[in-house]
This record gives sequence, C-alpha cells and structure tokens, in this order.
Amino acid sequence: MPDLITHVLVVLIACELINMKKKGLILAGAILPDIVSRIFLLGFIIKLPDGFLIAVTLFHSLIPLLALAVLLATLFKDFFSAAFLIGIGAISHLLLDTFNIHFLGGIMWMFPFSWILFKYSLFIPDQFMYVAVSLLAVYIFIRVYKWRKEINDS
Ligand SMILES: [Zn+2]
Repeated sequence: MPDLITHVLVVLIACELINMKKKGLILAGAILPDIVSRIFLLGFIIKLPDGFLIAVTLFHSLIPLLALAVLLATLFKDFFSAAFLIGIGAISHLLLDTFNIHFLGGIMWMFPFSWILFKYSLFIPDQFMYVAVSLLAVYIFIRVYKWRKEINDS
C-alpha cells in the first residue's frame, strides 16, 4: 500500500478501534517515510548530491526511521510521548509497505545490520484504489457506529 491515503486510513481505523483521541503524531509517523522518500523530487529543481536517492530510501528501514522519529520528537514539549507516537506510526508504515509487491526489492527492516529485503507481495501498488476505498468504507462504518452509539447512550 504505497500511497499516503491507505497509510492514513489504516492508522485512523486502528486509532478508532482503540479509542485513541490524539491522532496527529501517529498519522505524521505513518506518512513520514514516504514524505522523506519524496525529497528526491527536489532533484527536478536543484542538483542533489550523488547517492541522495539511496540515502532517503534508507528511511524505509527501521533504525534510520526511528532515529528520524526521535529527532522530530525533540520539537515537541512531551518528547517521550511524541517519539513513541511518531515511532508507532512509522512502524505501521513499514509493516504495510512490507506487504507490497516490490519489483525491485522490499523493506530493509534490519539495516544497517543486514541488507536483507523483506516483502510479502500481497498488494499491487498500482491498484491501491481498491484497498483505499475498502478502508474508507470501514473507517466510515466505525465512525457512524460510534456516532449512533453516542446518540443512543445520551
Ligand atoms: Zn512507503
């Protein structure tokens, strides 16, 4: 599930299921690897150093991604809570990407200790729309269910 919409929807559904109210940081973590990976698009405007694309691709592996989450968490007053939430979101991103069909590789979960690529090839990245629409339907169902329950309880 390569697109940001499916990453966001999966996290939103998980947050609804565990009744998590503050979702911003976990959502930020869920899209963080793809946002960082798209920095290479600056290469169309400015000259980027050689190997830059490989460097940003490494943020689709656990340790560099968690290091980035910790770095971003320093921007927040409650550092530990922010690092935890961004980290959980980021891990959810890697988990979902692991289930993609990768034509040129997979996710290097163990980098820098290992270059082994993990993939389980369940989803075709070009057909994310079917998954996104299904997830959106699930999310709407959960929200409507909770809304109706609130009305009935009051
Ligand atoms: Zn990704």
